[in-house]
Amino acid sequence: MEKKTRRTFLCQAARTGAALPLAAAAMHLAPGAATRAAAQPDNPIPYMREVPYYEKLKNKQIKCKICPRECVVGDKERGFCGNKENHGGKYETLAWGNPCAAHNDPIEKKPLFHFLPGAQAFSIAAAGCNFDCKFCQNWDISQSRPEQTRNLDLPPKDVVRYAKQVAAASIAYTYGEPVVFYKYMYDCAQAGRAAGLRSVMISNGYINTKPLAALCGVLDAVKIDFKAYTDKFYKQTCLGTLKPVLDAMVTVKEHKVWLELVYLVVPTLNDNASDIRAMAKWIVKTLGADTPIHFSRFQPQYKLKNLPPTPLDTLDRVYDICRDQGLHYVYIGNVPGHRAESTQCPKCGKTVIARYGYLVTSNDIKNGKCRFCGKAIAGVWA
Ligand code: SF4
Ligand SMILES: [Zn+2]
Repeated sequence: MEKKTRRTFLCQAARTGAALPLAAAAMHLAPGAATRAAAQPDNPIPYMREVPYYEKLKNKQIKCKICPRECVVGDKERGFCGNKENHGGKYETLAWGNPCAAHNDPIEKKPLFHFLPGAQAFSIAAAGCNFDCKFCQNWDISQSRPEQTRNLDLPPKDVVRYAKQVAAASIAYTYGEPVVFYKYMYDCAQAGRAAGLRSVMISNGYINTKPLAALCGVLDAVKIDFKAYTDKFYKQTCLGTLKPVLDAMVTVKEHKVWLELVYLVVPTLNDNASDIRAMAKWIVKTLGADTPIHFSRFQPQYKLKNLPPTPLDTLDRVYDICRDQGLHYVYIGNVPGHRAESTQCPKCGKTVIARYGYLVTSNDIKNGKCRFCGKAIAGVWA
């Protein structure tokens, strides 16, 4: 069998649509609406774009400054996230305009509960991640490279076009880790804003302050995964660190972009009551009591199949801890029908948004206020 270099493999795959190893990313666009990659004669690997935020070093090496990993990458090599490559000292993404997933989702699925409830978000993802979480739900995307996923040909102008066609209110960068397809996300958000579409980033928050601050200029909401309130968990379970994620939350807040947090409660690893209490205190003090937090039920998967699903009483306990610390909006996710899926007014206690799973069953917020007592409910409602 002919021995192929990685580059010839990529070129041939892009030209012919050859059978690539596929990730399980279903795409819900109309058949034929978007096509596989078509290489141009002057650009044998389509979708390459120079990324912002990197530093040139000696011997054609570069240092990527997008996320706190700050990978030093030699010529013809890639960084940790696997979707950017150094070409002679020029750092280029291979994941611009070729998402491996595109769906129209309810915004509640992200989850964002205080951002245009009931609206749809046109959601896209590209391969690669700057973490390797042992519980990842989307490991087939996050731990793949762009040449290992089945991709669509979807430059930003087409993302906007499809989002409008399906009457989405926003574009969501999600499923995998959008920080590592920064350039594509930024360009889509900019094009979306010009066309009246909002943008939401669903992220692990592992991003340097400078690129995040620039991104905040084109984003309308951010959901950050709070993996745990210990550096140990970040290091051992995600191959990351806690401090940059806390800094990212503060940056989003400072830029007045709507922020919600999600915490997947993994039995024995991050369900310690005193850590949860300390985290709730930090959120109230630093981000404010109006910051929503969603506690999700863990299901055994990927590299953590040895642990059981989160017991429901553990979720109830973390809910109570956070409410006792003064957080106004605490939710429990992945448990359809749980009372903590709905939003209660912090003043009168009445349900102002009732939900079942991703479905909004009633909405009693009028002009951003509780319809029963007039209390302002934090969020983006119109
Ligand atoms: S974005 Fe990717 S290449 Fe850049 S520092 Fe992070 S992991 Fe490394
Ligand atoms: Zn009220």
